[in-house]
Amino acid sequence: MKIALLGEPGSGKGTQAKSLAKKYGFPHISTGDIFRKEIAGNTDLGLQVEEYVKSGRLVPDELTFKIVSQRLEFNDCTRGFFLDGFPRTVEQAETLSAKLTQEKRPLDKVLYLQMTEEEVVKRLSSRRECDKCRRIYNLISQPPQTPDVCDLDNGKLVQREDDVPETIKKRLVVFANLTEPLISYYRGEGVLETINGDRPIEEVSKDIYGILDPLKK
Ligand code: AMP
Repeated sequence: MKIALLGEPGSGKGTQAKSLAKKYGFPHISTGDIFRKEIAGNTDLGLQVEEYVKSGRLVPDELTFKIVSQRLEFNDCTRGFFLDGFPRTVEQAETLSAKLTQEKRPLDKVLYLQMTEEEVVKRLSSRRECDKCRRIYNLISQPPQTPDVCDLDNGKLVQREDDVPETIKKRLVVFANLTEPLISYYRGEGVLETINGDRPIEEVSKDIYGILDPLKK
């Protein structure tokens, strides 16, 4: 089951990819999570990507592809994976497609979680994450039991540095200019499935199961 999830920041692709990985037993590969971890660990890669991530710009294609390509070589990816936040440009999609076609394991489906801009801004401004386990909350639709405290490990709930209004705006422009063209790219490839992402998480998940269950072997 080789799947990529596409969607604007805040569309819920990370939340969906995480639970799909658990349900179907394939790894969840999030380029955003990889970059944030490297930044937090002050690694060489972290230092290279920090400015891009914090300002809401895209990390250069070549570097991003190298990271994903190395991850896809791990044994746990042989039979399937859920890519979250990658590809994000047509160039990334083309390089990925060349690699996967050569390895005879092309993407089965690309799930596009479509949302209205109004809902995206609302979700991103109310998104918080645990500074220990990184669980995601939403102050409106999925609040923690105690304000600012993670239900799982009492970690502190913080706002991502790129979830502030100025950077949110920049990320939406980046999406419109660089990532939106991927929708027609994958439609042309015949693998695109568009899902209305404006609805509650469980409803979106149900639609996704309807698409992915038939791929189970
Ligand atoms: P995300 O968590 O997917 O919203 O990603 C957070 C940030 O990481 C983005 O705003 C970019 O700076 C960087 N990033 C994540 N995925 C990619 C990608 N495929 N290409 C370039 N930059 C990326």
